[in-house]
Amino acid sequence: PRASSRWRERDAQGYDDASTGAAPMTGASRTLHLLAPLSGIVVPLAQVPDPVFAAGTVGAGVGIDPTSSELLAPVAGVVTQLHRAHHALAIRADEGIEVLIHVGIDTVTLRGEGLVPRVALGERVVAGQPLLGFDADFVATRAASLVTPVIVTSADCVVRSVAEGGVVRAGHDRLLVVELGPLAGSAAAPAEPPALTTPSGPTARVEVELPNPDGLHARPAATLAAAAKRYHADIRLRRGEAQANAKSLTSIMLLGTHAHDRLEIVAAGADAQAAVRDLAELIAAGCGESAAAGGPPADAAPLPATAVTPGAGTLTGQPASPGIAVGRVVQLRHLVHDVPEQGTGPVQERARFELALAEARRAIAALRAPLAESPQARILDAHIELLADPELLDPVLAALESGASAARLWRQSYGGYAARLERVDNPLLRERARDVRDVGERVLGVLAGTGAVELPPGTDLVLIAEDLAPSETAALDRQRVLAVCTVGGSATGHAAILARMLGIPAICALDPAARALPDGCPVLVDGGSGVLRPNPAPEEVTHARARGAEQLRLREADAALAAQAAVTLDGERIEVAANIRDGEEARAAVAAGADAVGLLRSEFLFSGRDRPPAEHEQSEAYRGIAATLGRGRRLVIRTLDVGGDKPLAYLPLPPEANPFLGVRGIRVTLERPELLRTQLRAILAAAPLGDLHVMFPMVAMLEELRRARALLAEEAAAAGVAVKVGVMIEVPSAALIAEALAPDVDFFSIGTNDLTQYTLAMDRGHPRLAAQADGLHPAVLRLIALTVEAAHRHGRWVGVCGGLAAEPLAIPALIGLGVDELSVAVPAVASVKASVRRLSRARCRALATQLLGLATAGEVRAALAACVASP
Ligand code: PEP
Ligand code: MG
Repeated sequence: PRASSRWRERDAQGYDDASTGAAPMTGASRTLHLLAPLSGIVVPLAQVPDPVFAAGTVGAGVGIDPTSSELLAPVAGVVTQLHRAHHALAIRADEGIEVLIHVGIDTVTLRGEGLVPRVALGERVVAGQPLLGFDADFVATRAASLVTPVIVTSADCVVRSVAEGGVVRAGHDRLLVVELGPLAGSAAAPAEPPALTTPSGPTARVEVELPNPDGLHARPAATLAAAAKRYHADIRLRRGEAQANAKSLTSIMLLGTHAHDRLEIVAAGADAQAAVRDLAELIAAGCGESAAAGGPPADAAPLPATAVTPGAGTLTGQPASPGIAVGRVVQLRHLVHDVPEQGTGPVQERARFELALAEARRAIAALRAPLAESPQARILDAHIELLADPELLDPVLAALESGASAARLWRQSYGGYAARLERVDNPLLRERARDVRDVGERVLGVLAGTGAVELPPGTDLVLIAEDLAPSETAALDRQRVLAVCTVGGSATGHAAILARMLGIPAICALDPAARALPDGCPVLVDGGSGVLRPNPAPEEVTHARARGAEQLRLREADAALAAQAAVTLDGERIEVAANIRDGEEARAAVAAGADAVGLLRSEFLFSGRDRPPAEHEQSEAYRGIAATLGRGRRLVIRTLDVGGDKPLAYLPLPPEANPFLGVRGIRVTLERPELLRTQLRAILAAAPLGDLHVMFPMVAMLEELRRARALLAEEAAAAGVAVKVGVMIEVPSAALIAEALAPDVDFFSIGTNDLTQYTLAMDRGHPRLAAQADGLHPAVLRLIALTVEAAHRHGRWVGVCGGLAAEPLAIPALIGLGVDELSVAVPAVASVKASVRRLSRARCRALATQLLGLATAGEVRAALAACVASP
């Protein structure tokens, strides 16, 4: 058979002869051989007819389609698990790893019939020793399959199958080779706590009755696991023959406990006594469930999805994109993420995974922070707990060596666990599978970066989501989605910017209670004031529709004049340009009356694909846009601006603690000059067709501008064409050295979204800082003033392409500060032009001088409101 020829290969490399029955370690290489526990055909794990085993969720290994019926120990060790249905057992090998053998598939339902254990829990066994006999005919005719998975469940080791597809003989042939990691079996930091049958340090145990009417479901289990983690001791929870790692929420939940179960808490280690005493007290008190002694538990309220009575009241958030919509709620919970199969290397993938966990933890903590002790708060606590759960994390960390991506392994891990939970015979625990998927998807969202939004049918959808990635917002179907509301995010985040670009009403940083609204609930959304009204009364809907119609009438009146120049009352022309992403928006910009394109966010040409666009593809896109605009409209193409909240799947940026302060914008392309050169060549190829300008993003230092310019100069010389050059002013240092930058550029464009974020040290996507991260803060206005003064001294023009340019209240301030161009989302072009026409530049200048002397954004807004009321 194929298997034995492989043996010889291995033996030739100096492995020990397995026929001794032992499974020795080979000194330095720390390799452990596992014997075949059954005779039969070796089946790859992926072909085991059970999705949980097949996905590798339980661990790595193989299946055996048996021809024998006496299960033998594959390795010397201790029996650490023997299920009460006798169909599965685990052995902790002397070298520290744990091996699980599961006789057949779905054999738990046999409740022990046809299976006869030959060993007891805790018994020491030698390799080859009989563990269990079974009636093969009986089991085969009653269970889903007789294929028997043999799985190494420990983390920190690499498992190779040596006999896949071949035939093995029980107790004679090798089945698996396990390369032990540095931690396997070490007392210092085992991948899992050592079995309590071989404890180190003092041990303690106590029995306690479980008062919780629904057993240890997610919330009490989370409380218990969090409490257990405070002790160094290894702590197990035993219910009959089943036992759980008390530090693992998932492990506790898998015990499938019920009210009045007697649980044994067993601990080993220096603080075992204290651990057992305190945890027994906690369990007796219901692990935080106040009604644990009887009646429905106080926190048995369902998840937020059904916890709050709809129609309870108006929910408020930050206005992110104006407009009124009346529609039906769609809660976005299941984003389908594009998950790469292969990773970029174990070290990078591990770092990425840890960063995603930290990011998810931060996001949940931000949602949790404003909530007092409440059922919702405890659910979020349980979610945070899941993010540290070894049962979910360890399989991912252990399998990274295989080269798989962290995203794929994570999806397998939480998906498999949720699937197992869904099969537990306790309805409340089955419900908790939803929490696991919720948390899992959150992490996956960070890991995968992008995802497609799956929508139910209908054309009156109001999406409510935790947050939306820019790519998800970009992918929204405008014909069907009337409004977008997110609990996270802020008005200057890229998702909100896109909603404005798409003309979809949007609210961000919305009251988290919005997540409790059921799908289909009728809602009224006013994106301009950041208000969501569930179950609006018919008269409210009528009123809102009337307001919407009035807004539409105004928009149409503005649109009628959109093609004309925006000239102030005292005769100064202000250019109103559009921010666009692609050719379609270029056509929309022209139709909307834009004088120019002040910002082409070229990164959108690079996203939603698996490699960067080739030079000819890019130049085709730029040429198309230039031709649409014609020579009379300037086209400012910003070079690739990724990093921060704009990841690119195929451009693996090293995980960073603070991506907004890391390698983003110009820093990315200067590190990859070929990427920049290719883009510059593509832009230069379009230059003859229009009035092309190149703009570099996120410039913080003169050196960066000079390096980028040098590359452009070389490419321009080679191409024999010239383009105008500018930089974005979106980092305070750039504004402060505008005087030094000005001689090297033709123009500046102020990115107020980032400039505000970096000036106030407030993440532009942070939901709780959204109200304070105000571009009208006097500090931001002073940086704009410095920029404009420096530019004008050198005869350069200045645009503003951040969100502030479209804010009606901010327009007088910007015009007063001397800005020459306002570049805004396409749907805002006409109304911004209309605003300009109502203003006098001279009055705005006087006002701006006053604003620069103010101390708070509130004072600035009050002064501007008075001015807009009487321009
Ligand atoms: C800005 O930062 O204001 C800007 C226009 O750039 P982006 O929003 O694309 O980062
Ligand atoms: Mg920016």
